[in-house]
Amino acid sequence: MQRSMRKWFFAVLATWVFATPTLAANKPKLVVMIVVDQGRHDYPLPRPDGYGKPPGGSKGYQILKQGTVYLNAAYAHSVTVTEPGHMTLITGGSPNTHGIPRNGWLNRNTGKFVNDIYDPDYWIVGNTGLKRDDKPGTAPTALLVNTGTIGDSLIEAHGEAKVFSIAMGDWPTIPIGGKKGKALWYDYTSGEFVSSDYFYKELPSWVQDWNKTHPLHPFLEKNLPRDPKTGSWVWELLYNRERYKNAPRSDANALYTRPACFPSQNACTYSLGHAFNHYLPNATPEDMLKTRLLLLWTPFADAVLREFAAELVQQEGLGQDETTDLLVMSLASTDLVGHMWGPDSLEHEDNFYRLDVVLEGLINALTTAVPKEDLLLVLSADHGMNSIPEFLRSQGISAGRLYTEEIVQAVNASLLQSYGMSNLALGMRPPSLFLDLKKIERAQRDVNEVAQRAVETIRHMTGVRYAWTKQDLFTHQQELEGVIEDIDAGRKRLQDIEEEVRFKARMLLSVDQNLTDRSGEVLIVQEKYWYFHELETDAAMHGSPYDYSSRVQLMFWGGPIKQAEISDRVRLRDIVPTIAKILDIDPPVAAQKSKSKPLRAILDYYGIAP
Ligand SMILES: [Zn+2]
Repeated sequence: MQRSMRKWFFAVLATWVFATPTLAANKPKLVVMIVVDQGRHDYPLPRPDGYGKPPGGSKGYQILKQGTVYLNAAYAHSVTVTEPGHMTLITGGSPNTHGIPRNGWLNRNTGKFVNDIYDPDYWIVGNTGLKRDDKPGTAPTALLVNTGTIGDSLIEAHGEAKVFSIAMGDWPTIPIGGKKGKALWYDYTSGEFVSSDYFYKELPSWVQDWNKTHPLHPFLEKNLPRDPKTGSWVWELLYNRERYKNAPRSDANALYTRPACFPSQNACTYSLGHAFNHYLPNATPEDMLKTRLLLLWTPFADAVLREFAAELVQQEGLGQDETTDLLVMSLASTDLVGHMWGPDSLEHEDNFYRLDVVLEGLINALTTAVPKEDLLLVLSADHGMNSIPEFLRSQGISAGRLYTEEIVQAVNASLLQSYGMSNLALGMRPPSLFLDLKKIERAQRDVNEVAQRAVETIRHMTGVRYAWTKQDLFTHQQELEGVIEDIDAGRKRLQDIEEEVRFKARMLLSVDQNLTDRSGEVLIVQEKYWYFHELETDAAMHGSPYDYSSRVQLMFWGGPIKQAEISDRVRLRDIVPTIAKILDIDPPVAAQKSKSKPLRAILDYYGIAP
């Protein structure tokens, strides 16, 4: 070897030898995934009209914007609701590979629609007023048939890794906990944090202590003013009303008069009212019971979770050794406030400003426990949101609600006429319609023919853009998968593909192909700005393939992540393979099946080749 060559060789070798420890040091000790439930892409980023910029200056989001912000992150799948979104975020697959196409589905054996995290073999550990008949969530067993989560992959690779999932309800905390992690959530009947005997035999002692020393009452007493007349705690505006962008349209939420209350047995007994201020009563034990529930429709639920997260990081020693730990937390106030008052309300704007403060507190607590260089923080969302139809109509936009009951009735009337059989449609879990397969089989009728007849009825309904049978999607599976691959590989632009084919391809991603009974026989796409109406508490709803519902926030912060804004269109399912690559572990099966790809820019910061 020539001298100059040798010099070059040793220089390269030295670079490699010395570069390796730098890479190892860059590996985060703690990964925190924050999911803003209903984090539409334009919520935190100031819009041209100034919305999204808190009057008092941004706090948490301002810090996160010192990292890398993806401006164009969108879900590929069609059904943009909570469980499919969260499962995509933690498995790296789409619903067709992770197996969670809806929030719930029809159990063909019992003929009843099921809560997708209910499992009668498990029960809540901790203080709860819920009874088994209430069918609360207890285990991720139904959800994790097809795949594990990124937390499961981490524990498989490093047995001592700690993986936690926390939120203010059992849903979506339980599936995020995965097969091997731990899930802890707020129980609205007791106001305490609980888990399930799937995860724990008994609550960790620090959770028991937290429940004893941090019950809700003192938290609210410390953080909320009291109404001088009634003594109720008050959710008032954080800033002066005239500084709110939504102040001039603050009556938008009152256009739809039914929600803003929590119906109990069809009576609107638990009400937060339509306009500020909102009151949380506390004079009697019955009042406190209401307040524990109503809290979830206020920004203070996120604030409680922030305190719990800080305690968990401290008590469990997350990020304190060389094995990377994972904490996933879902902040749901935005979703519940958005559903009840709509995303154009003062309530929603105030909630967002308060979320900004919560994020600042959370980042402070995390960086106190783990230095920023050892942290990787990913903020994302499970879906976006549509405005309330009455508000859109007041702006001259065609919008409306598709009442699921009306769809079922129309289909049943039409099928009765065609086949002489009543109630062939059993119900909907939007956008799926479930048919009575047993009855159709007994009558020796072809399911696909009956489903096609239902499609013809549905297609003519106002507010419906498309409807297909599930069989139709499977018949064109190859062609539709080709469309998805062309879009993902950048070979075709969205606008070059016929809309119905494009929407059909996205719906195919929202149909579970292993447990097809979860997806129903008929699939419907609503017109833009229309939504499927199921619950009286919801003034507004998400769930469609349109941008306002599928395009969401995505930000990376911590470690070597630099400040950047990236406008390339990226998929949310690409987060998991990115984290897997950084941690040098295998991505979950669903991510592999969906061929999800790591985000190049993030890997570059860590000096990792894709
Ligand atoms: Zn929602």
